[in-house]
Amino acid sequence: MPAFYDLTRPELETLLTAWGEPAFRARQVWQAVYRDLAAGPAEISTLPKPLRERLAAEVSFGTLAPAAAVRSSDGQTRKQLFHLPDGRAIETVLMGYARRRTTCISTQAGCAMGCVFCATGQMGFQRHLTAGEIVQQVLWFARELQAQEDRLTNIVVMGMGEPFHNYDATLRAVDVLTDPEGFNFGARRLTISTVGLVPMIRRFADEKRQVNLAISLHAATDDLRAELLPVNRRYPLAEVFEAARYYVAQTHRRVTFEWALIAGRNDTPEQARAFAGLARGLMCHVNVIPLNPTRGYAGQAATRERAAAFLDILAQHHIPGSVRVRRGIDVDAGCGQLAVRAGTAASPLD
Ligand code: SAH
Ligand code: SF4
Repeated sequence: MPAFYDLTRPELETLLTAWGEPAFRARQVWQAVYRDLAAGPAEISTLPKPLRERLAAEVSFGTLAPAAAVRSSDGQTRKQLFHLPDGRAIETVLMGYARRRTTCISTQAGCAMGCVFCATGQMGFQRHLTAGEIVQQVLWFARELQAQEDRLTNIVVMGMGEPFHNYDATLRAVDVLTDPEGFNFGARRLTISTVGLVPMIRRFADEKRQVNLAISLHAATDDLRAELLPVNRRYPLAEVFEAARYYVAQTHRRVTFEWALIAGRNDTPEQARAFAGLARGLMCHVNVIPLNPTRGYAGQAATRERAAAFLDILAQHHIPGSVRVRRGIDVDAGCGQLAVRAGTAASPLD
């Protein structure tokens, strides 16, 4: 049975045409779901009843089952747990700011990359999400905000999983969400964060999209980066920076580097200077954030002073950066980094 949220608009057109429906029907359904945010065919009252019934019987709508939800004590951050049909669980976060409503979405259950400080990495890999499972996370909060006459302003692909390890499903979800006939989400308000899968950074650069790219760097020497991010053994810093430069050349967009500051490890002046050396002349921005401690890793968050000193050194080398505050999911977060990183991407509204 086709899953509705996996389909692109042309694919929906093909399906409904094969059912003998007139050409305008696909657009009608598409707009009802992605513009009006109907949760399923039963809610699309403009459709003839037989078509509503056939859609309900032959296409699956909604495969994410909402489970636990948690809210930070300041009420500004909310995390929603979803169960997938096979019993796996993923998380999606919504953060409220003065002017922004940002959702942080997952692309995999677990993650294969094994970054030592990451709660998802510590879980190991379970499976890729489908495009539809990625899309539905966004729709969940979009619907909820709509009910409050509010709307999402930013999407960050910084939840569980490595989006470029699940490239096709992630980009298909981006296509669906940015479709001008439907959800029409601005590509410039969407940020994909990667651990640094070099061939995929290049592929993404070649697509010349308006989507923002963030690279999780966390260290500027190969020894240290490989200790923290095992993927660095496969794609060392020199290759990551070559790919980042290629991205900027292809898209004329700046690249964001993410850096979780771990006390006494990667918060040193030496690391800041090494970074400045690597990034010389590169159009970039650095987001530093104190580490969110996780159960599986002994490292602690760098102090505010160290974070400020780190950015000072970057500034001396004319590299812009900012320290991001932790958004408080002040509960035992199974997937610590969601709450930490989400909303930290450089955004046009910053
Ligand atoms: N897999 C992608 C996107 C998801 S992780 C990536 O790694 O970029 C989103 C961000 O959260 C990454 O920058 C990641 O390094 C960071 N992160 C993971 N665990 C963290 C922690 N405990 N504290 C702070 N940042 C963390
Ligand atoms: Fe995966 Fe990103 Fe966590 Fe690394 S930081 S383990 S790539 S989710």
